Amino acid sequence: SVRRPPDRTAPPPSLSYELYPPRCAASAETLLRTIEELEPTRPDHVAVTYSGDAPRRAGSLALLDHLLARTGLRPLAHLTCVGSTRAELEETVTSLLHRGVRGVLALRGDLEPDAEPGELAHAGDLVELVREVEQRHTASLAGGRLAVGVAAYPTRHPESPSFRHDIEVLLAKQRAGADFAITQVYFRPQRYERLVASARAAGVTIPIVPGIMPVTEPRRLATLCRLAGLRPHPGLAAALEEAAGPAERHRAGVAFATRLARAALDAGAPGLHLYTFNEHRAALDLLERVDLPRVPHQPAALPDLLPA
Ligand code: FAD
Repeated sequence: SVRRPPDRTAPPPSLSYELYPPRCAASAETLLRTIEELEPTRPDHVAVTYSGDAPRRAGSLALLDHLLARTGLRPLAHLTCVGSTRAELEETVTSLLHRGVRGVLALRGDLEPDAEPGELAHAGDLVELVREVEQRHTASLAGGRLAVGVAAYPTRHPESPSFRHDIEVLLAKQRAGADFAITQVYFRPQRYERLVASARAAGVTIPIVPGIMPVTEPRRLATLCRLAGLRPHPGLAAALEEAAGPAERHRAGVAFATRLARAALDAGAPGLHLYTFNEHRAALDLLERVDLPRVPHQPAALPDLLPA
């Protein structure tokens, strides 16, 4: 990709992290430490994933409450519509608003075999529902707006007939009221650039933030690819498999993700969204190496891994 000259009038790149509710007491401790370590980088928001099953949903709400009450971080609440009625979703959005959440990532969620599909078929319908609920609460929002984000796909969504169709869907989500999009994980810089170019040509004007995941474990790469319907990148898979130990795997995973992040920023990306696995080390190492203008620069700890 061609490195663009810096645009001095452009806002600094945004920064966000994705966290998920902990599954046990030990992972809750790791998460608290992660939040403490990430907070000083002053992210624009911290995304909290959401899931269909009731205990996990309660975990998401508890994490949102923690971020709002105990930290200076701004949460972005993921919300999925699969398996829910319209009334349930309206209630959840209202409860998010009352808690103080001002950003929602509207998603469909994954279709589980044999599960009830729910009353809303697509994420675009959920964007409309969120906007309707917002209208009813303009007084408590003091005239302000909710920030509503949606998912975008650099690699064709597994259920979609084509990449073109994905672009049409993104345009439909923008028309339904989305303010920004965050991408699914991808492994080749050209995928992000192609997504943005095709979306712009189709009339999508909202910011499309690249979702970058520093993957430092081969097992995680396999699970991620299975869940997202992606093919593992052979170079990354080999680097993780062949690494001599955890430190080398960490370096390889961070170096790979750093190259993706740098390429996206050079191509004009409005910021970075980092999938963290609830761990801070890889995210912080990546940021240090990407040298995001908003993050105070520190000498790179891993100079041998700078992309050629
Ligand atoms: P949609 O936009 O509804 O798309 C789903 C499928 O329907 C696509 O194939 C699309 O082409 C098609 N489609 C959409 N609209 C139309 C239309 N109007 N007409 C015809 N076809 C249409 N999952 C979770 O369960 N919890 C999370 O917290 C979560 N966070 C995520 C965060 C990000 C940044 C991303 C990228 C994904 C996340 N996911 C999460 C996964 C997501 O739920 C799945 O990728 C899901 O399969 C699709 O969600 P979507 O919002 O893109 O759905």
